[in-house]
Amino acid sequence: MKKKYFISADIEGCTDVTAWHECEAGGAGYGDACRQMSLEVAAACEAILEAGHEVVVRDGHGSAKNIIHSLLPRGAKLMRGWACHVGSMMAGLDDSYDGVLYIGYHAPSGSTGSPLAHTINHTKVEWIKVNGKLASEFTLNSLYAAQQGVAPIFISGDADICRRAEEEYPGIGTMATKECRGNSTFNMHPLDACDAIKAAVAEAIAREEETPTPVRAVPEELVLEIRLKSFQQVLNAIQHPEVKQVDDLTVRYTAKSVDDLNVVRMCNIMA
Ligand SMILES: [Zn+2]
Repeated sequence: MKKKYFISADIEGCTDVTAWHECEAGGAGYGDACRQMSLEVAAACEAILEAGHEVVVRDGHGSAKNIIHSLLPRGAKLMRGWACHVGSMMAGLDDSYDGVLYIGYHAPSGSTGSPLAHTINHTKVEWIKVNGKLASEFTLNSLYAAQQGVAPIFISGDADICRRAEEEYPGIGTMATKECRGNSTFNMHPLDACDAIKAAVAEAIAREEETPTPVRAVPEELVLEIRLKSFQQVLNAIQHPEVKQVDDLTVRYTAKSVDDLNVVRMCNIMA
């Protein structure tokens, strides 16, 4: 049966990407990073299309205009720019999809997993926790996907985020294309990384044919804690009557749904 897959793509977890200037439009090395991001996404698309399925890609980094569409295989559709929607890096996902794949994902804020470890905004956030556990962008985006009724089936990026994803969703397909230490990264050859991603996605897709990954229920209560980098941000955040200050730099909010969590996070706490 023909299935439809959603790819959420980021840049910091792509092969060879090591420094912030490589992730920022106009920065040295940014063009190379965009190209590698595009090639890694293309590798995943090829595996999906060759299996006879449909694929839609959401560019989820910075301006959301990093992926070079002409480097993707024909048939791959691309969402560029921000949708001004609570889904953010997942905007466009709905229950018509059969699974989500994450490409170029990275270690979260509050971890030592990458020189580029961050969650959403590295200039504002020390760490984010949901229900007491350190949350990565993968954690937050998979909660959003679960709310749409779609399960995570594959992730590629640095070794740290792949390990975390396996802990959170045992059985998820993974492909770590780099190990990170301090300010350094130890990378596969960029083209070897693409081959490895394509093979691992093909495997994950074949597994889905046999046994589709079940969609996990979203907890009824989502306790969001964010450690911010400045007290000014805390003052902004607590203007919302239900956002509570926990200590000098930490705030807490109890959300009743993923949308609720994302709206308060995006429009109030991290505004
Ligand atoms: Zn990111």
